[in-house]
Amino acid sequence: MMLLKLAIQKSGRLHDDSVKLLKECGIEISNNVKNQLKATASNFPLEVFFLRDDDIPQYVEDGVADIGFVGENVIYESKKNVTVTELLGFGKCRLSIAVGKNEPYPNVQCLESKKIATSYPVLLQKFLDENKVNAEIHEISGSVEIAPGIGLADAICDLVSSGSTLFMNGLQETEVILKSESALIKTPTLSGEKQRILDKLLFRIQTVKKAKNKKYVLMNAPNDKLEEIIKILPGMKSPTILPLAVEGWSSIHTVLSENDFWEHIEEIKTVGAEDILVLPIEKMVI
Ligand code: ATP
Ligand code: ZN
Repeated sequence: MMLLKLAIQKSGRLHDDSVKLLKECGIEISNNVKNQLKATASNFPLEVFFLRDDDIPQYVEDGVADIGFVGENVIYESKKNVTVTELLGFGKCRLSIAVGKNEPYPNVQCLESKKIATSYPVLLQKFLDENKVNAEIHEISGSVEIAPGIGLADAICDLVSSGSTLFMNGLQETEVILKSESALIKTPTLSGEKQRILDKLLFRIQTVKKAKNKKYVLMNAPNDKLEEIIKILPGMKSPTILPLAVEGWSSIHTVLSENDFWEHIEEIKTVGAEDILVLPIEKMVI
């Protein structure tokens, strides 16, 4: 049987979320994946390779793997010929420039002639070119954040998520040069049969993604307040209204984004809704 070959990170920040996404898509791979090179799904035509994230774009370009889950930062730094097919919603971070917290930073021009330490020379050079700044790029492979402190560089360009690593090293973030999350990349040429397997996988991923930040919300309200409450609710469709056993009351069911829920909940309560329940949604096919 034809198997679609997927490369994911062997261990590190993206590994668990990659395996979790497959699981949410109903795809089972054996539990003990950490010490293996590859594993085959038991209920989907998929073979999973476990690799260092930096190697994934190369494997996918060469067609050794058909697709991969990897950070956009790694994809764009690699300059490989692969297609970004779907963003996956995890591994969110930004590639940023940071300087000492007491350094004045009026604008990007102040990087002129400075020395910048980074593991992302391609993306940094592109940013400098776009801003017509000449700076010296000092490429190092790890612990970039300590470079200014030990006098190795004037600034750094590195991945940031919360910013706590920068803070602990006495740095301030001054430019975001790329916002990144994990993406599904695809090899330049895929056979028709493999493309059909990929289409099935993409359908499942999109179904899971749609449900991710949506909530199923239920509440009770007196009938004379229904109209007002429904006007506030920005649901997907018109909400479901069911009569309660108690005369004069109804139950309202709707689907809301997490954000909309928090934005409107106070107002809905004030109008008269009670017993508000919020439930997670696992899958959503629309
Ligand atoms: P490998 O051994 O696979 O080469 P690594 O050490 O290069 O792993 P990790 O630190 O596991 O990589 O990060 C993998 C990816 O996670 C990054 O390329 C990036 O896309 C994403 N990421 C999300 N938040 C952060 C962060 N705060 N710092 C670094 N990477 C992050
Ligand atoms: Zn890596």
